[in-house]
Amino acid sequence: MPELPEVETLRNALLPLVRNQTLAELKFLRADLRFPIPRKQLKKEMTQSVVTDITRTGKYLLLHNDKGAMLWHLGMSGRVVQRPSMKAEEKHTHAIFHFAPETYLHFIDPRRFGCILWVPKDAGHPLLDHLGPDPFSDEATPELFKERARTCKGPIKGFLMNATRIAGIGNIYACEALFEAGIHPKKPANKLSKPQWEKLLIEVRHVLRKSINAGGTTLRDFFNTDGNPGYFALDLSVYGKEGEPCPRCGNPIARSVHTARSTFFCKTCQKR
Ligand SMILES: [Zn+2]
Repeated sequence: MPELPEVETLRNALLPLVRNQTLAELKFLRADLRFPIPRKQLKKEMTQSVVTDITRTGKYLLLHNDKGAMLWHLGMSGRVVQRPSMKAEEKHTHAIFHFAPETYLHFIDPRRFGCILWVPKDAGHPLLDHLGPDPFSDEATPELFKERARTCKGPIKGFLMNATRIAGIGNIYACEALFEAGIHPKKPANKLSKPQWEKLLIEVRHVLRKSINAGGTTLRDFFNTDGNPGYFALDLSVYGKEGEPCPRCGNPIARSVHTARSTFFCKTCQKR
């Protein structure tokens, strides 16, 4: 599944191609993905308009013009690739965007959990309105999370992965950040101290940043190949390392499973 670092890398790849360019033509090859695509509206509001910027919140990308923004989410299997024309070249190409002079972006999503929507200027959107702050935004502070976790007795890992609390943190990054911060994944969110929140937020940003930087080196692959981009090659400490020695203390990494999702952690370094 494309995670926040992949989406940020896509944003970085698209910016020089798209910013301040005219979106000459939009073509949709089906009526819906996860939600119906507002095709008429998107064509009306965006055709021949200049895309002024691309921003990201969590795993959502927004392509802005002066009337609003086209909202993209890549779902479980989405990709956006550059192709030489408006002609769909592979299966599961659901939308094609032609930016002047000759940039053709193909939106491909085999499992169709992604979305393409329209967000009018200053109107907000239900998908965005319920999102917690992006981990890199100024709004994301230890004070805010400590306050919001005050009544949350559930485990901190669940809090981190809940997009309404903080946007865009997947399992792999939650496991890694909690390990680096020395916090047990099952520690109740409301029991974290202020210094623990400070440390955790630093580590969340650090693991995401590390992955974004790693993505920079594979940018061309990510943008041009047909294969599933998957996770960037990451230097991971605990994720997927059950039984291997903890990089900090040498004791074996543990794994627990909750609602079909694995949590990897060190029982020695991450105290409850
Ligand atoms: Zn350890």
